[in-house]
Order: sequence, then C-alpha cells, then structure tokens
Amino acid sequence: MTETGTTVEDGSNTRRHRIYVRGTVQGVGFRPFVHQAAADLGLVGWVRNEGSSVAIEVEGPGERLADFRNALEGSPPPLAEVLEVLVTPIEPVGETVFQVLASERRDEPVQVASDIATCADCLAEVLDPDDRRHGYAFTNCTNCGPRFTIVDQVPYDRTNTTMSAFTMCEACRAEYEDTSNRRFHAQPTCCPDCGPSLTLTDLSPDGPPPNDPIDRAAARLLDGEVLAVKGLGGYHLAVLADSESAVERLRSRKHREDKPFAVMVPDLDAAQGLCEVDAIGEDLLTDPARPIVLLRRRPDCPIADAVGPHTTEVGLMLPYTPLHHLLLRAVGRPLVLTSGNASDEPIAYRDDDARRRLAGIADAILSHDRPIRIRTDDSVVRSVAGQPMAIRRSRGFVPDSLRLPVPTRRPVLGVGAELKSTVALADGDRAVVSHHIGDLRHLETHGSFLEAIEHLGRLFQIEPQVVAHDLHPDYLSTAHATGIEGVDLVGVQHHHAHVAACLVDNGRTDEVIGVAFDGTGHGTDGTSWGGEFLVADLAASTRRGHLEVLPLPGGDAAMREPWRMAAVHLAHLGDPMAETPLRGRQPSWDDVVALAGSDLAGRTSSAGRLFDAVAALVGVRDVANYEGQAAIEFEQRVDPSETGAYRAGLFDDGTLVVRGSDLFAAALDDLRTGIDVGRIAARFHHGLADAVVETCDRIRADGGPEVVALTGGVFLNRVLLTRAVEGLEGCGFEVLRHREIPPNDGGISLGQVAVAAAFDRR
Ligand SMILES: [Zn+2]
Ligand SMILES: [Zn+2]
Ligand SMILES: [Zn+2]
Repeated sequence: MTETGTTVEDGSNTRRHRIYVRGTVQGVGFRPFVHQAAADLGLVGWVRNEGSSVAIEVEGPGERLADFRNALEGSPPPLAEVLEVLVTPIEPVGETVFQVLASERRDEPVQVASDIATCADCLAEVLDPDDRRHGYAFTNCTNCGPRFTIVDQVPYDRTNTTMSAFTMCEACRAEYEDTSNRRFHAQPTCCPDCGPSLTLTDLSPDGPPPNDPIDRAAARLLDGEVLAVKGLGGYHLAVLADSESAVERLRSRKHREDKPFAVMVPDLDAAQGLCEVDAIGEDLLTDPARPIVLLRRRPDCPIADAVGPHTTEVGLMLPYTPLHHLLLRAVGRPLVLTSGNASDEPIAYRDDDARRRLAGIADAILSHDRPIRIRTDDSVVRSVAGQPMAIRRSRGFVPDSLRLPVPTRRPVLGVGAELKSTVALADGDRAVVSHHIGDLRHLETHGSFLEAIEHLGRLFQIEPQVVAHDLHPDYLSTAHATGIEGVDLVGVQHHHAHVAACLVDNGRTDEVIGVAFDGTGHGTDGTSWGGEFLVADLAASTRRGHLEVLPLPGGDAAMREPWRMAAVHLAHLGDPMAETPLRGRQPSWDDVVALAGSDLAGRTSSAGRLFDAVAALVGVRDVANYEGQAAIEFEQRVDPSETGAYRAGLFDDGTLVVRGSDLFAAALDDLRTGIDVGRIAARFHHGLADAVVETCDRIRADGGPEVVALTGGVFLNRVLLTRAVEGLEGCGFEVLRHREIPPNDGGISLGQVAVAAAFDRR
C-alpha cells in the first residue's frame, strides 16, 4: 500500500465517484497514472485492480472530478486501452489521502497484457555507461517488457510469474514502491544485482571459455557460426543474414529447404536500407508488439539469397528486448533470427529441451535463467492494399482480447482447424485467441495445443460449456473437442468460420457475401472446399457459389506437388498429353492423370489448388516445400505493367460455378504463344479477382447482401486482394477485409467461437 498526502479542501461542492475502468488496464502502469492524475487535481480516495477492471473511488470538487474523468479517457498510459469508464456517484467519506490499494482477487475474468518491446527510456538506460542497468539484458519497466510469456496465473503479480525466483534488491524494491517511478509495480523489474543473467554455453567440445556472454556470442556469429538465443517466447537460431555460407549452414542443419527466415535489424534506418518501407510498414516495424513485417527487398539489398530463396520479399523485425539491442550492436550486421527448432517442430522454449533439440543445429547457446512460461512465436504482418494485415498473430498481440459482436450466452472454446492452429476462448463479449500453435499433426504441437487450452482457461478463468470445432472428421482438433465431457458441441463449417472471423475483425453482425478462398476445408457435402461464396452472418451460412469442382489426386500429395493440379486441368481440357516441359519432368504424370479420372480421387473447389495448377503450368514451381509456396512465388512474378485479365465463365446449376479451368486454359494459350510468365501471372490474378466481383454482383442481383467479406489464406495475396477490393467498391459493394485477425487458418478458432456464440443465442 502506498500513501501520499493530498488533502481535499472543505467545500459544499464535494462529491465522490465510484469508477470502473474496463479494458487493458493491468500491468500497464494504470494505477500509478491514476494516482498521479488524482494528485495533480488534489483529489482523495483510492485505486485498485479488481478482476479485469481498475476500480477507483475519488472525492473532491465536482468540476475537478470531471477533469479527472477526462484524464482517464483522454490520456491513459501508452500501453493501456480503455474500453469503458463507468461512473456512479456515492456519498463522500472525507479521507485525507489518495491511496493505491493491493489487488482484490475476484472471481471474474482478468486481463493479462501481451509482451511489449523495450521502451525508449529503458533502452537509454541500457546504453548509458553511467546507469546501473548499463548493458543489462533484462531491463524493463511498466511501459515495456515481458508479460504473457512469464505469467503463470492471475492476478498479474510477481509471485505469479517466472520472476518469482528473483528477490528484488533494495534499489529495485524502492523503485517498485515509488508511485512516481516508471517502475512502480512493474512486476518483472530487476537489475544486474538481483535479476536474471546471461550464459553462453559452448556446444562444441573444445570451445574457448566464455567471458562476457554477449561479446563472446557476437564473436561466434561473426565467425559464421549458428547461435541459439533464448528470447521472449522461445529460442531463436541466429546467423549473419548477409553471409551466404552462414545462412546455408543454418538451412542444411535445420532441414529447411526454402521457407524464408526472418531478419532482425537494429533500427528503422537499417530496415529502410534493405527493403522498401512505406508508411504502414514503418508503423508495423515500430509497433510495440514488434512483429515480423514482410517487405520487398531493394535491388541492392545485401541480405543473402539463402535467407529467402525464390522470393523477392524478406521478413524484417526490430529488436524487442535489451538482449536483442545489445547483440545487434555487438555484431553490427543484420541477423537471421528464426524459430529454434528443426523444420516443422514447435519452437523450443524450455532450457533442457532446447539444449537437446538444438544440439545438432547450433554451435553455442546464449541463454539465461528467467524461465519462459509459454512458447510464443514471433508475429508476422504485411501491408496489403494500403492496410496492415496479420499473417500470424502471436507474440506482442496475444493475449489481448477481442470484442465479440454477439456476446456468448455460455463460455465457449473454439479448437481451431489443423494447420496454423490457434485456439480461442470467449465469455460474454470478450474473446481471447491463443498464440500460434502450428501444425497439429506433429506430436509436440499437439501437446502445446492442450497446454494452450489449459493455460488460457486458467489465466482468463473461463471454463467452456460450449465447444466449437471444424467439421473435418479427421482433424485432431475435432477429435479433441468430441472427447470433452459435459459440454455442448457445435460443428462449424470451415469457410463459415473464416467469414465469421472477418466479421469479428470488423465488429459486424450483418449478413454478407463471404468470399472464402483457401487451400482446403471440409464442406457440408463431404468434399474439400476452398473457393467459396457464402451468404452468411454469424449464426448461419448458405453456399451460393464456388469455384469449379475438379479432381484432387492424392489429398496431401496434391498440396505438396502443384504439378498434379496442372495435370488435372490439362486432362480436364481434354489435352492430358499436352507437350509442356512440366510433363517431361514428372515420371508419374500418366498415373496421376489416371488417378484423377478414377473414383479414388477426392474432389475440390479450392482456390489454392487453382493457383497451384497455373503456377506449375508456367514453370514457377512443380513441388512446394512449404504450404502455399507456389502461389506466393507466382504472385511475386506478376508484371505490374500488365493490365489484361483472363475471363472465367460463370454458370448457374443451382449454385453459381466460376469456371476456373477457363483461367487455366487462357494461361495455356498464352504460354504456347510465348507470352512471358509475368504477364500470364498478372492476367490470371486479374481474371480471378474479376470473377469474384462478377459472382458477388450476381448474388446481389438475386437479392443477396451489399457487403462482401474477403477471407481465407488466399486473400493474403496483394494483387488479388487489391484488384478484388477495387472492383467490388467500383460496383458499390462495401468490402470487409482482415486486419488484426489472420485471414488464414490462424483465425478459424475465433470464427468458431463467434458462430457458436451466435448459434447458442438462437
Ligand atoms: Zn521500459
Ligand atoms: Zn535490483
Ligand atoms: Zn482455411
């Protein structure tokens, strides 16, 4: 408890208000801010955390109480987000001071904040040779530092974090208790005398003994070695980003063929030297969440090609812990910082596990003794058609809650899909989406799926009574949901969940035309969908159109081998033996064509597979080494000077069908007449976008809505999204697109809880 002596003057005008402030108001310096505001205005009373809210009683002259309320709403601390201020007048009690009271534990959900990049004040201290935290890698304050990655349970107090093992020294304790200090009630605050410390562990048998861990680590990196670095939400693997040989070494040890690595640079200037950074890119790079931002490389960009083979983009991020700042400064060159794992496994975050799993990959480990409570990968964003769009929402954004436009009647769990998996919990109008979990088919990922459900449930004190799941009978998430006892199950069609996620992202409840383009999702007819036009609101959806349905020869294999869909399309055109160079490269071509013509092949309307077919046809990629690779590289080949568009037929057989094979056939014609890949790529993208516009127009003409939601992973494609938005808006549609919630399967769990909540109300 902290007291200061602000005395209220006597006067007949004295009033007292009981105030609740809802939002992200804990662990963000809100109580010291309230204390200061009250002191500035000469008011008395108290402030404390209550559940998710901050409760205040404040007393003084009426006009100053109005000023106080304005301060709460108008100038809260930088990391706070005030959603609501509720004021109730009560009887004055005549105290003489304003107090900060200890938290009151209450049985209502609480708000745990996300991890925040090192603030400018802390960085200045770390770099100041005269400061007691000079060079200290764990410096933080109320405005920055770890939160979600260290908290074990609520309330958010030091004893409930992985900092509980470190006892504050006298100097830190004094700062922690001083209401005027930047570190007042900063739970992870520490210094070199009392906090965690770094160690550099050599993994080669005869390495030299360590002295200063950061200098030693930098020297190893400058020698081209691979370093494991313990970060905020897990271990990274680091190498020099401008050294082809160092990056190749990391690729071969990690068994990762093509998937691009992220690169950390010291500041915005350095980022601008490597990539084209527009205003949105600047905002994203410097956001306190410090996501990885996908940016176009400058022609003279010195980043090694091996960082992102076959791609013109690179994912950049700025340092978000003092350790990163110190390491980048010591190295003086950009660093690859990629997840600490072998390909496809979840990121390592426990020390013993990291040591075991990274032993064959890293030459040394730069670690520390502050445990990570939950693994949290870096977030990924890009700017698309003039707006930011989340690709992976994880560290820095999780567990910030989202507002459900239709509140739940009973608490809901959404278990997500299978790839890019997340889970979501919702209670009332608040939904919390987990960190990125990944591909559930990996055993270790499945473990972290279970842990995420348990951990989020505990942090937010939500016990689900309704569980929403995908309709796919073989997804492990579905199996988990159906195995939970004592709850009601709601199966949500995959693309309906995508549309619902887009509605939540835009705070909407109205009926829309949902255009859901992705790789695959289980349809209500048991086939694989992925090029869908749904008329949907949160509670219900009807399939009004889709891309042409074609055979899917060999499920997962068709996803990994885009050439198979090219073979399907050529066969569909009655030209299976077309003499393309592609056919010559694939010995099993005829078998795949035979499979596609048999009853054994699945059927799909997937937009992702249509991209695969055309990309493979024109020689962009026969085999994908990561999900969506062919489509991503095809988009990058688009010649921006080309304005032409292929035309896809649209016919009505009860539902509207967009003839994707027309786009493929047009590309084949162009290929045969020697048109270059850049023009073909542009005409294909434009043609598909135009088909979206035409189909939505037809649905509207039949009495459908005038609002279109564009969703599904395919709408991460800049060229497609930009042209579709322009075309739709040109036809008078209102267009909803994703911003905070990824359009890919990372958003499915949120869509599921939104649908289940709306359904449960009906
Ligand atoms: Zn700070
Ligand atoms: Zn200390
Ligand atoms: Zn999907």
